[in-house]
Amino acid sequence: NAESNNTADNTFGRQLRAENQINTLTVTELEQAIDARDIYLVYQPKVSCISGALTGFEALARWHHPEKGFISPEKFIPLAEQHNLIDRLTLQVFEQALPFLNQLQDADTVQGIQSRGLLLSVNISAASLKNLYLFKQIELLCKSNNVKPDQLILELTETAAMDDPVMSLDILTRLRLRGFRLSIDDFGTGFSSMLALVRMPFSEVKVDKTFVMTSGDSRESRLVIKAIIELAHSLNMQVAAEGIEDNEALELLRNMGCDQAQGYFIGRPMLADAFIEWSKQSSE
Ligand code: C2E
Ligand code: CA
Ligand code: CA
Ligand code: CA
Repeated sequence: NAESNNTADNTFGRQLRAENQINTLTVTELEQAIDARDIYLVYQPKVSCISGALTGFEALARWHHPEKGFISPEKFIPLAEQHNLIDRLTLQVFEQALPFLNQLQDADTVQGIQSRGLLLSVNISAASLKNLYLFKQIELLCKSNNVKPDQLILELTETAAMDDPVMSLDILTRLRLRGFRLSIDDFGTGFSSMLALVRMPFSEVKVDKTFVMTSGDSRESRLVIKAIIELAHSLNMQVAAEGIEDNEALELLRNMGCDQAQGYFIGRPMLADAFIEWSKQSSE
């Protein structure tokens, strides 16, 4: 009957409005959070598979919403990409991470850790590749923070690099010539893996964590990892494995010839102070 239909419509309408509100609020709030510099960083260590020594760390963005709590970067990064906010966010990542790297280099500030030559990895979205102005600004930030571009690893996903291969090759080559190191992230999950790797000037390949996390149980995963390592090494690229969650995975990857390891078993993403503490303890 009409009345119950009406009620149902109203409920549905209200729900829709509420959902829309959440969505629009999130974009607006993300923009406000960026403007207010509420996005902060955690740092996850990366170590040599052979010696276990710290070789660098990856900056990962975090956002705590005052009411909605912790929001995953898997949510707010795509949102930032869709609404043209990603370059501002990326720049803020560098504005925070470069002074931190500079601070680590300062032996007086951080005693007891081998901080010379540490490499900083930062995730770069596909859309940002078109913005050469962004990379100019990153270069300026490097200068003012006493960091050389070759201390940075720009991590791009495989799909990002292969979206428009001609443009990517051109831009990645320029970035490489300026000294930036380039890493291909989540490697093995796309369809154009081989071509991306052979053609583009990457310094590092990051084996996707889905292969690493299943490497103990899955022969298929081990085969994929083995093939990636062989291909990367034949192209003179370093291989990093992410998602190392136990000693078994670490040993396996080490025995397969992987160069770098990253994952919860080695160290979780940490706030700056905790990262420094972790570094001191791990170098004891
Ligand atoms: P990603 O670049 O592949 O980063 C690795 C993700 O795996 C991180 O998730 C990290 O916390 C998580 N992780 C590290 N070790 C382990 C492990 O042993 N096991 C498991 N299961 N996970 C592990 P997070 O921090 O939630 O970031 C998710 C994604 O969001 C990143 O994936 C990256 O694509 C994106 N992201 C994060 N920060 C930024 C940023 O500043 N800029 C851009 N463009 N993207 C970012
Ligand atoms: Ca990454
Ligand atoms: Ca990854
Ligand atoms: Ca990922």
